[in-house]
Amino acid sequence: MSKRSSGSTGFYNSKARSLVGMAQRLVEAFDGEVPGAMEDLVTLPGVGRKTANVVRSVALGLPGLPVDTHVLRLSRRLGITDETDPVKVEYVLNAMIPAAERGGFSLRMILHGRRTCFARKPNCGACVLADFCPSAGTGEPRPLAKSSIQRGERNNDSRRRIAEPIALSTSRKRTAKSSRGVPS
Ligand code: SF4
Repeated sequence: MSKRSSGSTGFYNSKARSLVGMAQRLVEAFDGEVPGAMEDLVTLPGVGRKTANVVRSVALGLPGLPVDTHVLRLSRRLGITDETDPVKVEYVLNAMIPAAERGGFSLRMILHGRRTCFARKPNCGACVLADFCPSAGTGEPRPLAKSSIQRGERNNDSRRRIAEPIALSTSRKRTAKSSRGVPS
């Protein structure tokens, strides 16, 4: 990839430098193969945990839960965690989501953040998670716009696939508390 082809993403000078450095390190340290281990991936220039998790989950079919700005925002709004550090949020989510489902879960959170739970004005009136989201009502009470994720079966499927792991985690926490005699 050249400086010109990475230009549309911004910061093309540093990205071009990272791409060249990454390619060199892949050849020198990993025989030209993209490694699968997190500790190896983050040694590549320009690659942090988020990118490493994308590579693991999307390209290599390994467990990986990328925490981007949408996953971070939704995790807080949905009451999953108060953490603001992406790495800590990743660990919290990893403890809740089965390894094989982490990449898909992250993608669904990203899609929900892009299409419904907007940063400035969440579309609560059209949100499939509104009946259990503790932040419901902080955004727009009436649907702002229809999007493909808010229609038909994909609507229910999206809700189920985001909501089920969260509900499971909440019930586990309650069970743990009650077994310790802590009122929930
Ligand atoms: S109810 Fe509102 S704040 Fe909660 S996830 Fe949906 S859009 Fe976001």
